[in-house]
Amino acid sequence: MQVSIVPGCITCGVCESICPEVFTVIDTSIADNSQIPGNEDACREASKACPVDVIVIQD
Ligand code: SF4
Repeated sequence: MQVSIVPGCITCGVCESICPEVFTVIDTSIADNSQIPGNEDACREASKACPVDVIVIQD
């Protein structure tokens, strides 16, 4: 799995609240792909929960 953030993040913090191991929100959301193993379901949940749909997951 690979997680990327496409332009348009509104820094709402939802992804970080769902999966703080992978997502860090400062000026935009940043995904630490090294932390994905074991957090795949939370990453998918964060992607679905993102209000502007900028979290892209590739399996
Ligand atoms: S949920 Fe989406 S809009 Fe909100 S901080 Fe994360 S990437 Fe940005």
